[in-house]
Amino acid sequence: MREVSRRDFFKLSGAVAGSLLLPTDLTLIQQIPPFPLHKRIGETTTICTYCGVGCGQIVGTTDGLLVNIEGDPDHPINQGNLCPKGNALHQLATVGQAANPRRLQQVKYRAPGSDRWEEKSWDWAINEIAQRIKATRDANWIAEDEEGHTVNRTEAIAAVGTVFANSEEAYVLTKLVRSLGIVYNENESRICVTSAVTAGGESVGRGPMNNHWIDLQNSDCIMSIGCNVAETFPVSFRWIDRAKEQGAKLISVDPRFTRTSAVADIYVPTRTGTDVALIGGMINYVLENELYHEEYVREYTNASFLINAGFGLDDGLFTGWNAEKGVYDKSTWQYQTDEEGIPRRDETLQDDNCVFQLLKGHFSRYDPDTVCAIAGTPKDIFLEACEAFAATGARDKAGAIICSSGAAQHTHGTQNVRSYYILQLLLGNIGVAGGGINGIAGASNGLGCTLQGRLFDVLPGNVPMPASADADVEAYLERVTAPAATMENVISPWRSRPRHAISLLKAWYGDAATEANEFGWEYLPKLGGNYSFIPLFEAMNAGTIRGLLAWGMNPAVSGPSSGVVREALQKLDWLVVVDLCETETAAIWNAPGVDSSANETEVFLLPAAASLEKEGSLMSSARWMQWRYQAVNPPGEAKSDLWIIDRLVLRLKELYGQEGGSHGEAITNLAWNYGDPADVHAVAKEMNGYDLTTGQLLAGPGALKDDGTTSCGNWLWCGSYTEQGNMMARRDPVDPSGIGLFPNWAWCFPVNRRIMYNRASVDLEGKPWNAEKPVIRWDPASEAWVGDVPDGGSPPGAAYPFVMKPHGRAHLFGTGRVDGPFPEHYEPWESPVSNPMSSVQSDPLLKTWEEEKGTREEYPIIATTYRLVEHMHTGTMTRNVPWLVEAQPEMFVELSEELAAEKGITSGARVIIESARGAIEAVAVVTVRLRPFEVNGQIVHQIALPWHWGYVGLSTGDSTNLLTARVVDSNTMIPAYRAFTVNITGV
Ligand code: SF4
Repeated sequence: MREVSRRDFFKLSGAVAGSLLLPTDLTLIQQIPPFPLHKRIGETTTICTYCGVGCGQIVGTTDGLLVNIEGDPDHPINQGNLCPKGNALHQLATVGQAANPRRLQQVKYRAPGSDRWEEKSWDWAINEIAQRIKATRDANWIAEDEEGHTVNRTEAIAAVGTVFANSEEAYVLTKLVRSLGIVYNENESRICVTSAVTAGGESVGRGPMNNHWIDLQNSDCIMSIGCNVAETFPVSFRWIDRAKEQGAKLISVDPRFTRTSAVADIYVPTRTGTDVALIGGMINYVLENELYHEEYVREYTNASFLINAGFGLDDGLFTGWNAEKGVYDKSTWQYQTDEEGIPRRDETLQDDNCVFQLLKGHFSRYDPDTVCAIAGTPKDIFLEACEAFAATGARDKAGAIICSSGAAQHTHGTQNVRSYYILQLLLGNIGVAGGGINGIAGASNGLGCTLQGRLFDVLPGNVPMPASADADVEAYLERVTAPAATMENVISPWRSRPRHAISLLKAWYGDAATEANEFGWEYLPKLGGNYSFIPLFEAMNAGTIRGLLAWGMNPAVSGPSSGVVREALQKLDWLVVVDLCETETAAIWNAPGVDSSANETEVFLLPAAASLEKEGSLMSSARWMQWRYQAVNPPGEAKSDLWIIDRLVLRLKELYGQEGGSHGEAITNLAWNYGDPADVHAVAKEMNGYDLTTGQLLAGPGALKDDGTTSCGNWLWCGSYTEQGNMMARRDPVDPSGIGLFPNWAWCFPVNRRIMYNRASVDLEGKPWNAEKPVIRWDPASEAWVGDVPDGGSPPGAAYPFVMKPHGRAHLFGTGRVDGPFPEHYEPWESPVSNPMSSVQSDPLLKTWEEEKGTREEYPIIATTYRLVEHMHTGTMTRNVPWLVEAQPEMFVELSEELAAEKGITSGARVIIESARGAIEAVAVVTVRLRPFEVNGQIVHQIALPWHWGYVGLSTGDSTNLLTARVVDSNTMIPAYRAFTVNITGV
């Protein structure tokens, strides 16, 4: 085994991301003498902790010491390759022969007014934290709201995080948080990709990545938009390379010429925040030139559905706009229905009121000249991209879109990604090999953690949270269950919500969840408003929230308008931070400009184990649930999240058992039987669920019942850990599909289906559109589907493919969005440009908490933010890894040569970037990667800033989010991090 040295690391990191990171010089390999095998190196497999590609790694240990990490050559996704972060992963645990000195190894405590940390024992900390939680909860318990509804919640404690813990740990965190009645419960997904997920839900029924990383090899054209895939999902790029080797084209749409752009066939420069215009132009190109997949569009989308007469758009506003209330009356946005409530259709797609004609009319305004005038894209390049991507509308071709937070973090983020879905649906690119909307979740377990109920409005499995007005469990289940299908051949799994919810309550409350007490319904808190990320910090600033559990999340750096977030954190009575290293959030009492003696916040800083130091599962962006094993012990007294949560719950149970307290039964009755020490397999089995009449693990969600005879912590995980064993730990590298599905490697939600909506990859007779790359096909001889797990096992024509949508068809026309059924171009909230499409400047439903925005005179320059391959999010992990800090040591800002000349700024100079929220300092990088845009005849400049820095770590620097604004997408409350205005001057 050959360890990657520091020298190797920097040589390899200089290569284009995604290239082969193993020695390729065969002469050299032959000269290396045979490895002396008497060294006895233990090997453990793990999954990389950084991004959502989910690369496999082999960890080498000797006598309990970590001596090597390398890419797992058997792993089908990365096949031995790793990117710079993955190659440097061992330094999270070990630097040289010792633990990374930046890692927390003991519990630390900061007393009110103190200027230092004190070291404490775990027993002391767990008891003190439990006491703080209990005191705050009991003193601020809301049993009833003002209308007299029983709500059983507290608004005085909040919990934030995580996207890096194992799924089992996120699950028990949610179980703890909800048993305490906490409603302010959010993780990074809210501020990162919720709008992309919501767009997926609206368009096709589910939000995550449709296909999977290996499947990119099957594409004929790949468009990276709102995502610099070479840096955000580095090793996935090898599958793009594979596709390119087979003749596929790569289109990179980005305001900045990135590493992805450098290897793209077509680079499309576009001003940040103009995706709807640009993709609207592509939609128009496809419709005008009749390049859509007609049969797919007619049969598998709502193109043929008739919309109520009168629907339309007038000067940027859809019909039904109520200016006084600032909302839409959506009555004209509804389907025309017959007496039985079945939508009327025109299968010729010619009726003026059918979705197809309305779509054509809407996007006809997005002609190439208009689009290019808005986006600042040269027309010839735009048309070249249109031609390349629209060619995938042929039946036997497939195009993939890769997007992520660059698309999502806008005031119109949901509509950005809606426009991608509309384009893909017109081209018949959803459900087929090489198609889909992909990427989306950026962190290694963003998807797996979030699906454990880490957002305020959902329980595990995205089961909606109860609300104040739900009188009882029956009313709740009626509200959250989809109405019975009105059309034939519609499956609608949302009809199963009662089975999901009751089985969840049985998993959480066991014997204490009985039919007599509505299965423990009373133990769940009931929502009374919007408790998402920005309202959470507003409530903290207002003094409503007194205590915060920050679990692997660092809002002092990641929150928009971070100055306000930092002010809020300083007002807490107590703060618990659980992380690998000290974070800016933990050190809030010691932040720049803060007088620690005047800060009264008690801080408990708990040392957490890294991924290599514990066992459990995580879910890649592509929905693969993979099991990773413990390779080494955590340093010092660091503990796994599961261990910490287990101890905290047991102490809280003791306290409430001994002393009682507000609604204490929700805690004392909580089913908590994971062993001593808590066993992650016991948690995984609880998530999968049991048949309570036999004690057997359930085989899949079809076995769930709503009568209390099954338990299941998360119905999406049902089937992941069965009587046959831990399906997530499977490592069968054989691919019988021939298209890279690898069905027996790990497990995948939903029900091990590798490509979602795969019934859309075949015609109504079950024949694949592309016989060369079939995802599924109907075998008439055996009367069964062959290939991937189909979306419903019924024969061809007996079920429509978009099973999560009420009529089985995907939504070109999205009735569920608050700001319009079709995407419409609006300018970002702060923009130096007047909207060329209408007199409505910005999304009319956007919400902001800022008192004022930057004027064009003071802040004439557009700014956007991005992520580097060497760093991850707020840098808590990567800014404490020496090799990565050496590779990207300092906060910087990229600006064009033209802007630099105008401002008299030279490369390497220190500059001040200022917005209406604050100012930061950075090193100027003057580059041709950014160019001014000509927008509607006006020259506008744009700068770009990475956002990984803060005031704690091996490398420190100003945080970009001191500049960003508290302004959000109305559909999801995701902040618009990617488009705001600034000025830039020399220091
Ligand atoms: Fe793979 Fe992502 Fe880890 Fe890099 S950061 S090794 S691409 S999982």
